[in-house]
Amino acid sequence: MDYKKYITVVEDWPKEGIRFKDITTLMDNGTAYKSAINDIVEYAKKLEIDIVVGPEARGFIIGCPVSYALEIGFAPVRKEGKLPREVIKVDYGLEYGKDVLTIHKDAIRPGQRVLITDDLLATGGTIEATIKLVEELGGVVAGCAFLIELTYLNGRDKLNGYDVLTLMQY
Ligand code: IMP
Repeated sequence: MDYKKYITVVEDWPKEGIRFKDITTLMDNGTAYKSAINDIVEYAKKLEIDIVVGPEARGFIIGCPVSYALEIGFAPVRKEGKLPREVIKVDYGLEYGKDVLTIHKDAIRPGQRVLITDDLLATGGTIEATIKLVEELGGVVAGCAFLIELTYLNGRDKLNGYDVLTLMQY
């Protein structure tokens, strides 16, 4: 399916010079949303994954329906202070300053094969931080799946040696 026609490119948002890729118009079309999720489900089946992990908030939009379809678990990665039990943390760089991502310490059992999902791969900072959390818990990152890849930001350079699926490239 040509998914790009369901993405709305918003000029100068959240600030001037950014061409924001809005996936809500793809989610609004049930056929397109289901088809995109199914593509990722088929990819995940080949990788024989045990659990899906996604960073807030748009990683949930992709990852939760994939875990539902495969009847496996989903573990959320969240900003600091959002998860109620014991967590491990990782600092990651943002365009300005840095932020912290966390995951529950018992979210992944050592050796589990993990699929990481997010809506969009830009610089790769978010996925790199998520991979660190998964690996610190002993998980094996079997693959990473995104709807969109901004190829000009070279996020893939941070994913050397990992299996990556992206459904659209800009
Ligand atoms: P990265 O860490 O630089 O790879 O940025 C990826 C993160 O930023 C993802 O979690 C996305 O949700 C978010 N993001 C960056 N640019 C866009 C965009 O154009 N549309 C939607 N999300 C974006």
